[in-house]
Amino acid sequence: MGGAKTVFFPRNMAEALSCLNSSSEPQVMAGCTLERGLPSSSIMVNATQIEELGVIDPHERFIDFGSAATFSQILGTAKRRLPSVFFESIESIATPFVRNRATIGGNICAPGRRRTLFSALLALDARLEFKGENETLFIHLGTFNKVPQGMMLTKIRVPVDEWNISIFKRPGPARIFTEESASFVFLAMTGKGGLSDLRIAYSQHTAYRSRALENRLIGMRLPLTQKTVSAILDETAERLKNSLDSSESPHSTLDSPVAARQFLDLLEFSLTQLM
Ligand SMILES: Cc1cc2nc3c(=O)[nH]c(=O)nc-3n(C[C@H](O)[C@H](O)[C@H](O)COP(=O)(O)OP(=O)(O)OC[C@H]3O[C@@H](n4cnc5c(N)ncnc54)[C@H](O)[C@@H]3O)c2cc1C
Repeated sequence: MGGAKTVFFPRNMAEALSCLNSSSEPQVMAGCTLERGLPSSSIMVNATQIEELGVIDPHERFIDFGSAATFSQILGTAKRRLPSVFFESIESIATPFVRNRATIGGNICAPGRRRTLFSALLALDARLEFKGENETLFIHLGTFNKVPQGMMLTKIRVPVDEWNISIFKRPGPARIFTEESASFVFLAMTGKGGLSDLRIAYSQHTAYRSRALENRLIGMRLPLTQKTVSAILDETAERLKNSLDSSESPHSTLDSPVAARQFLDLLEFSLTQLM
């Protein structure tokens, strides 16, 4: 039946950070849309009380988002400047009602399966800022595993480079998050008859981005031939089967044959756009 719960309502950032050291080991909560009910001890953060957590700050090459910025705020404020895969992935989440509460930080920090935004942010090379009472840490999403002990996510920096080809796919049911949910992002920069840059990311239970695969493709002449596409798919299947990327980063293995098959199908679809 639960028992008494401790809930902190900090009025500013300094209070929020000092609550992190409470002996009840509270969990930071933002929109509270992920699970029913609260953990036994929690720190409620929201952008109304802690203004800097709601800031959306566009720069020339990137946009900084406070971790408690809601999806509705992000879609409303920065729509024209958002990379299309980021915009599409936010728009694919839940309903406008839920998006009024759900935050970008909650989506990234949610434990367990990687959520819908993860592949877009992984492909875009997003950088995370975590704060504890006496320390600030910057972590690239590519090396992020879980929220560091005694810290909270405060800011997400999303680069806004232009890509010629941007593909976002979301296998599984629409607008809810289940065991079948996955997301995939493919970004390509083309020019002078070749592929000058490329990012490919996928998330399901675990997330996957392979620099080896990207480097294999960057520099190739366009259009790709059927032979090249087939060779890349075969090599990638081999890499996944033998977990050849597993020492690269925390996001470099797919933990099931179903995920590997789905990734290969999405990769094939994307590469055929370059034929
Ligand atoms: C109807 C419905 C549909 C949904 N559809 C989708 C969907 O399609 N895709 C999807 O990905 N999700 C979906 N969700 C789940 C959820 O809404 C989102 O994942 C949302 O982004 C979670 O954000 P939140 O602010 O509500 O997080 P919360 O519920 O407040 O927190 C989620 C987790 O993140 C941690 N956390 C939150 N903020 C911080 C922080 N600043 N620092 C450290 N830890 C933090 C919390 O401790 C908790 O573990 C859906 C939910 C509902 C109700």
